[in-house]
Amino acid sequence: NARRGETWGDADMKAAVLREVGKPLQIEDVQINKPGPREVLVRTKAAGLCHSDLHFMEGSYPHPLPAVLGHESAGVVEAVGSEVRTVKPGDHVITCLSAYCGHCESCLTGRLSLCVSPETKRDSGDEPRLTQNGAPLPQFLNLSSFAEYMLIHEHACVSIRKDMPLDRAALIGCSVMTGVGAAIHTSGVRPGETVAVIGCGGVGLSAINGAAIAGAGRIIAVDMFGSKDNLAREFGATDFIDASKTDAVKEVLEMTRGGVHHAFEAIGLSKTAEQAFNMLRRGGTANIIGMIPIGQNVTLPGAAFLGEKRIQGSLMGSNRFPVDMPRLVDFYMSGKLKLDEMISQRIRLDQVNEGFADMKKGGLARSVIVFD
Ligand code: ZN
Ligand code: ZN
Repeated sequence: NARRGETWGDADMKAAVLREVGKPLQIEDVQINKPGPREVLVRTKAAGLCHSDLHFMEGSYPHPLPAVLGHESAGVVEAVGSEVRTVKPGDHVITCLSAYCGHCESCLTGRLSLCVSPETKRDSGDEPRLTQNGAPLPQFLNLSSFAEYMLIHEHACVSIRKDMPLDRAALIGCSVMTGVGAAIHTSGVRPGETVAVIGCGGVGLSAINGAAIAGAGRIIAVDMFGSKDNLAREFGATDFIDASKTDAVKEVLEMTRGGVHHAFEAIGLSKTAEQAFNMLRRGGTANIIGMIPIGQNVTLPGAAFLGEKRIQGSLMGSNRFPVDMPRLVDFYMSGKLKLDEMISQRIRLDQVNEGFADMKKGGLARSVIVFD
């Protein structure tokens, strides 16, 4: 390989590194390489703390360690490789972990978010994108956003209009795309249909917002925190069920006289996945967005399939992000997409562990790291 042995003069930067499962992230110096032909160096301006990061920190999903976490981000293009066509230095971009190759079967059939082609990553023989004191550091979900810079494939980001605030743009990079896309793409909510969303964190609120944009007639939000009621309504919920006080399935079936057309699970538990299925009407579709811990099984009543009830996974909102994300930015700028209400606090990189501690309490919606 031509790259091997060459000196690229890696640059130093600060990054939040996960060294060990169950331990806090550590702010350390990490070295970042220069862009290869199809790569983009992005100066990170904002990075959201997402629940999926926590899954890896707590070990319910595995990842090689040490690693720089973070995958919900926006920034400014600093430099591009010789063959990059889609962005240029100075562009404002939202990143997306759904890096796509553009020519595999998934990509060519319009299912970009299912692409698993290795060519958006570097070969094992190439110099790594990230290193620390000469040792390779695996990139997290094609991005590693808890760092001052990101070195990514050009198909892991999209250019957006410059009047869009980047701290809010970052949220579109994961939770908002995931939630809105689940409603609009994965389940295909149609005007007038009924929707239930279990879990009112960043993803659940975005699913509510997506259903509202799609024109759903009734949107029932379900959460264990009664305090989420008003927040859910701001995002477009027409009803709210406090699941700590009542049987949410029974309640939804009564309210809708037989169940909803679309149910969304946005927590990541087998129990709430079962509830999502059990609150469907005949012909309804349950969408599992949350990351159910490895080893947990979902148990369903077999006879319900006679009513053509469906259950399916929804990964990153079944996105075609280069098209979707600029549209979501326009929805925000025209007031249809709620983002301001989602950010509960803005923090510095060195406050990342406090941000995750707040997330675990469950009351807050979202913390965003902002970089100067
Ligand atoms: Zn995420
Ligand atoms: Zn592909």
